[in-house]
Amino acid sequence: MAQNSFTQHCRQEADTSALAQKLANSLSHLFQADKNAHLNISLEGDLGAGKTTFARHLIQALGFEGRVKSPTYTLCEPYPIQINSGNLPNAISITAHHFDLYRMRDPLEWQEAGFAEHFDEPGFCLVEWPEKAEGTLPAFDIEIHLTAGDDENSRNISFKANSSQGKIVIQKINAQ
Ligand code: ADP
Ligand code: MG
Repeated sequence: MAQNSFTQHCRQEADTSALAQKLANSLSHLFQADKNAHLNISLEGDLGAGKTTFARHLIQALGFEGRVKSPTYTLCEPYPIQINSGNLPNAISITAHHFDLYRMRDPLEWQEAGFAEHFDEPGFCLVEWPEKAEGTLPAFDIEIHLTAGDDENSRNISFKANSSQGKIVIQKINAQ
């Protein structure tokens, strides 16, 4: 049976970066197959677990060259990304929306800010602190949980797929 979840021990940030690179490769395949695909990915874990660090490595692994800062105060930061389209002449344009909902005062603040439309645009949403929205967000295709390991720089990072699209992405990570 195909695996729909896994946990990886990352001994240092470079391992977290390598895992983010694998997710980037797998997402690239997905968008090459369907340029209008959309994925929702949660990033869960305590303060300092490495959610923003993982998001930064992922967005940069997809070729974004600018700064990836924490969306703590803005709630959401968009990142335009060009995916190599293989045989086709034009690159595939998608947008990664990186959310940090920690500072929301109301569970529906993300909707009032006009962010709902980002949840089906070509690309993906990465959401830190989804629990602050108290179940009002669209379903997550993939849930990523980060927990502290046994020393300062180690983390355990778990992936769980909840949809057929999410399962394909996870299987492609495991196949690398
Ligand atoms: P969060 O967004 O979960 O609050 P951050 O990503 O902002 O956490 O902070 C995580 C901190 O831990 C960063 O300073 C990062 O450099 C550090 N760190 C050390 N080791 C790791 C690791 N293996 N994976 C991710 N981050 C790590
Ligand atoms: Mg963060």
